[in-house]
Amino acid sequence: MKVPFITKQQVEEIVKEYPTPFHIYDEKGIRENARALNKAFSWNKGYKEYFAVKATPTPAILKILHEEGCGTDCSSMAELVISERSGITGYDVMFSSNETPAEEFVKCAEIGGIINLDDITHIDYVLKALGGKLPKRMSCRFNPGGVFTLGESNESVQVMDNPGEAKYGMTPEQIIQAYKRLSELGVEELGIHSFLASNTLSNDYYPALAKILFELAVEIKEKTGIKLSFINLSGGVGISYTPDAPSNDIAIIGEGVHKVFDEVLVPAGMGDVSIFTELGRFMLAPYGHLVTKAIHEKHIYKEYIGVDACAANLMRPAMYGSYHHVTVLGKEEAPATETYDVVGSLCENNDKFAIDRKLPKIDMGDYLVIHDTGAHGHSMGYNYNGRLRSAELLLKEDGSVVQIRRAETLEDYFATIDDFWDVEV
Ligand SMILES: *Cc1c(COP(=O)(O)O)cnc(C)c1O
Repeated sequence: MKVPFITKQQVEEIVKEYPTPFHIYDEKGIRENARALNKAFSWNKGYKEYFAVKATPTPAILKILHEEGCGTDCSSMAELVISERSGITGYDVMFSSNETPAEEFVKCAEIGGIINLDDITHIDYVLKALGGKLPKRMSCRFNPGGVFTLGESNESVQVMDNPGEAKYGMTPEQIIQAYKRLSELGVEELGIHSFLASNTLSNDYYPALAKILFELAVEIKEKTGIKLSFINLSGGVGISYTPDAPSNDIAIIGEGVHKVFDEVLVPAGMGDVSIFTELGRFMLAPYGHLVTKAIHEKHIYKEYIGVDACAANLMRPAMYGSYHHVTVLGKEEAPATETYDVVGSLCENNDKFAIDRKLPKIDMGDYLVIHDTGAHGHSMGYNYNGRLRSAELLLKEDGSVVQIRRAETLEDYFATIDDFWDVEV
């Protein structure tokens, strides 16, 4: 069962000020989850979560997480600037970018963030961009190649991804060379980072990744004498989008990493290494809803419910075929007697939030909650068909609602062509 964190009565109040569609975030849920994560890794003295800004690049969200001890993981100029302007700088910023323009490395260095190099050739590129002087603390991204699988049995594989086909990171040989070079260039604190699989639903993913990185860290120490200062497990801990999927238990995940840490790093004299994470989805997805109103019903070869949100507000179903649970507010207990496609207004037939979904009978004007949109939801929004991105609201711990980003207007949409209405062609 997925239960929305807002009720029909609350939405009826909210829409008096902020019309649908909108994204709304649950401050209480965000804080409790961040605290559970920090608790799960409290055995590690230097532990820090760097929230992947791309998931939800909204200052109010970054500030809440910063208050809970999290930094930011950025990968573009805009994300670095959002972090800086939200008051998050220095070693609270990780810059895990790729194909990075020189000025973004410069910006990261300027705000004192940690540059995580995606490739060995970027050492010279950054050196040049920064005028010959590298920061004291830096990181390198690792790609083990091949196929990464977890929990294989005859019937199923729990986790599978394909690092060998991914554009990110360095090979084992390259990364060892990179550490030697960075060390020679005066970088004193080095770290390693790797992202092997996305949206994993297994308490074993982080421990398995940790084992790979911890063993490599020991090998690096043995081969080069360089002792890494931090190991960044990156993102990839998933959430269950469907009501019946298993969910991850962050306490078990933290303990799983702890065990591998004690087995691999501690005996190698590396018990003081800091563990970092860069979770996005796990930190925010369940604590965001896209709230939309049923405005049309259509009975042709299938039953359609047309809503006032579209893929421009939430791209995941159209882009990945992702499941997002839907609740009809006020009908939480009603039997699911109908089968609907719940669709948006884009002139694209993939603009469907739900396909053949069993739902209670929907009446025009009903409010629908689309669940788990807190990460990679609003942030993936776009303007196709001239559709505008919605507002973002925050349900505060005291039950009040504040706007944390306004909806786009037609003026915003036209801003980039305003000087060109009369262009001679
Ligand atoms: C996207 C991304 C993350 C966050 O991934 P989630 O699956 O949302 O946890 C972390 N680090 C990097 C480098 C990323 O690109």
